[in-house]
Amino acid sequence: MYFASDNAGAAHPQVMQHVTDANTGFALPYGADPIMEGVRAKIREVFEAHQAAVYLVATGTAANSLALACYCAPWQTTFCSEVAHVHEDECNAPEFFSGAKLTLVRGGDKMTADALETAIRSENTRGVHGPQRGPVSITQVTERGRIYSLEELRALTDVAARYALPVHLDGARFANAMVALECTPAEMTWKAGVDVVSFGGTKNGCLGVEAVILFDPDKAWEFELRRKRGAHLFSKHRYLSAQMAGYLENDLWLDTARQANANAAHLIAGLRSAGAEFVHEPQANMIFAAFPRRIHRALHNAGAVYYIWSGELEGDDPEEMLEARLVCDWSVTTAQIDTFLGHFDQ
Ligand SMILES: *Cc1c(COP(=O)(O)O)cnc(C)c1O
Repeated sequence: MYFASDNAGAAHPQVMQHVTDANTGFALPYGADPIMEGVRAKIREVFEAHQAAVYLVATGTAANSLALACYCAPWQTTFCSEVAHVHEDECNAPEFFSGAKLTLVRGGDKMTADALETAIRSENTRGVHGPQRGPVSITQVTERGRIYSLEELRALTDVAARYALPVHLDGARFANAMVALECTPAEMTWKAGVDVVSFGGTKNGCLGVEAVILFDPDKAWEFELRRKRGAHLFSKHRYLSAQMAGYLENDLWLDTARQANANAAHLIAGLRSAGAEFVHEPQANMIFAAFPRRIHRALHNAGAVYYIWSGELEGDDPEEMLEARLVCDWSVTTAQIDTFLGHFDQ
């Protein structure tokens, strides 16, 4: 019963097979391997972006930080939600790599066009003394498991465009959002006004690989230089390429995302009928639900692993509602979910 995160599960056998297949003979290092050529072509095809620059790194933090650094100067500020991963979970790496600060858009995980515009208008008002406006970073799926509709994305990128600001999409859970929206990769990115994407692989079946896709090929060289200077250019790069090749082959990435979302839907249905309260309406594979301490205790004692998002397991009142964050990956089984839900009956 493991619901702590979608990076806690195993890598998919198809990804492992590609890594094993790549593990023979010699290949040019540093991204010059032939597998990468195929990955670049495939990503360009999948995103209908035939000029796009495509690079691989091993962590989402590197993807976000290097992508953002290409789109902001040290005297600028990046706009993001107040719970954005780039703000809360990257130890200031985006600031480190770009030199720019972050400006938080108030109102929770999902930015509205109005809140974004308010934040943008609050900057650039002090001439040389203040931060200059920089990129907007949007997380899809959000850090609270919600999804921006294409209209909502467009409303944000319209605001950014009005101020001539570039847009970054943190897609650590890109596939989970895409299959939920039933849209194409292009529709969720460049057609919606996004300039650069962190395209997640790790949480959806890979060992550790994320792609950065820059729709403006003029940014390619700068990204390459930043990746090397930032110590994220892999020498035996073929092992990154092989993971991404396996991930994309026969739409595995869409299958694993559909499976993860379906697993979450099964868990959500069970939680709902057990009377749990949803703190945010879940839309993908991440759930924030509140239920009584006594159930948390029973689950805890039975070995369930997940984060208690607010409240303490220790405490007197067995009926007090504590909030859990529950994340399903593609590999969690229906039986495991049902065992978890079984503890709500007692
Ligand atoms: C997991 C995650 C990342 C990437 O994190 P790493 O640990 O650096 O791989 C980025 N953004 C979001 C929203 C995430 O959930």
